Amino acid sequence: MGERKLIDENGLRVDGRRPDELRPIKMEVGLLANADGSAYIEQGKSKIIVAVYGPKEVHPKHLGLTGRAIIRCRYHMAPFSTPERKSPAPSRREIELSKIIREAFEPVIFSEYYPRSMIDIFIEVLQSDGGTRCAGITAASLALADAGIPLRDLVAACAVGKVDGQLVVDLNDVEDKEGEADMPVAYIPALNQISLLQMDGQLTEEEFAKALEMAKEACMKIYQLQKQTLKQKYVEAKEAVEKGEEA
Ligand code: ADP
Repeated sequence: MGERKLIDENGLRVDGRRPDELRPIKMEVGLLANADGSAYIEQGKSKIIVAVYGPKEVHPKHLGLTGRAIIRCRYHMAPFSTPERKSPAPSRREIELSKIIREAFEPVIFSEYYPRSMIDIFIEVLQSDGGTRCAGITAASLALADAGIPLRDLVAACAVGKVDGQLVVDLNDVEDKEGEADMPVAYIPALNQISLLQMDGQLTEEEFAKALEMAKEACMKIYQLQKQTLKQKYVEAKEAVEKGEEA
């Protein structure tokens, strides 16, 4: 635990948030012309862009599966995403995150519709300030939907942690590093299923139960934003067509 006080006398956090308050979130879809699907998210100071390709033919062919599509994921932090330049080579942490993020999507993608094909998810962290695996999952869901890949539901993700003895949602970098616990959760509302749950630090059994509830609530707020973002794209496209017809 750090020396710094992470919750002040009014019960507010280092960035002025209440314990159950998310950071400001901005989401956008379909911003990359050369990917099949794309999305961008800003969650506090974390900024992430995601590109999705597929379903497409598998290369090399022998990797293909007869009954389903393979899903591949690359989580990567840009060299300029951290205060000190980060090596662009994939670290152990990035390799682990790529694997668990892929696994977080396995339950929602109708991969059985696309035998012998593959779906590629590229998550590029442009600026990191905590919670990037969760924000990456949230944005990757949007990019998959934007690519037109059939999904059972979107996946929404958010971390809950413990700072100064108190449970808080959506930790920023300082809270993540100096707090006592950090628990990222990915939630699939339609299936009422958790597809990622990790824990760094320690919580009591009681705190864990409370933290899980807080994480689900936070994920539901993020889920609403995801749905709004996807709908907005179609509203804008419709308006553009209508304007074009008028001109
Ligand atoms: P997450 O981003 O999902 O919370 P971690 O808990 O591993 O993942 O990391 C927390 C934060 O630590 C990151 O969001 C980032 O701000 C910072 N961080 C991670 N790796 C590095 C690194 N190699 N150099 C500097 N900061 C890093």
